[in-house]
Amino acid sequence: MNNELRKSILLHMCCGVCAAASIEKLKHQGFSVIGFFYNPNIHPEDEYIRRLEAAKQTAMILSIPLLEGSYDTCGWMAAVKGLEQEPEGTGSRCGVCFRQRLEETHRKMKAESISCFTTTLSISPHKNAALINRIGSEIGNESFIPFDFKKEDGFKKTLDFSRVHSLYRQRYCGCVFSLNSH
Ligand code: SF4
Repeated sequence: MNNELRKSILLHMCCGVCAAASIEKLKHQGFSVIGFFYNPNIHPEDEYIRRLEAAKQTAMILSIPLLEGSYDTCGWMAAVKGLEQEPEGTGSRCGVCFRQRLEETHRKMKAESISCFTTTLSISPHKNAALINRIGSEIGNESFIPFDFKKEDGFKKTLDFSRVHSLYRQRYCGCVFSLNSH
């Protein structure tokens, strides 16, 4: 596809590892990819910095620009207030967490005049792609492009990439509650 005709897509990146196969798939489908690291759910801050550095490394290797959102931990904690005890994955806290990050990605997409948006979150075998895609569509309607990046060996491909490039791989989902239950 001619560069001028490529549709730009803002890719919410939860980390560098998950982003790798997602970026490659989007490029293969003809998108011009811009990364967006916005994850105020991550605790503690040194873990946030590690994941951000891995995201920068992936963006550099795959030659895409990377935008960084704010690390608004207070806003994120306020959004999930009352949901602290919800179970990881199946509880309602994760849906609120997805929504908060996708709303900000949608805002950024509009602010940067980018055509559409999506997220790497669906690549994890522990995350419900149908829920993520439903939330994204509620927020962005047609501007949200649904994917299930774990399909076609997406998760395996992304792990292979992380090994080859020695990327930092986290051992828990991200928030203080997932850290404490790990
Ligand atoms: S477990 Fe993961 S998806 Fe769920 S609220 Fe925590 S950081 Fe967000």
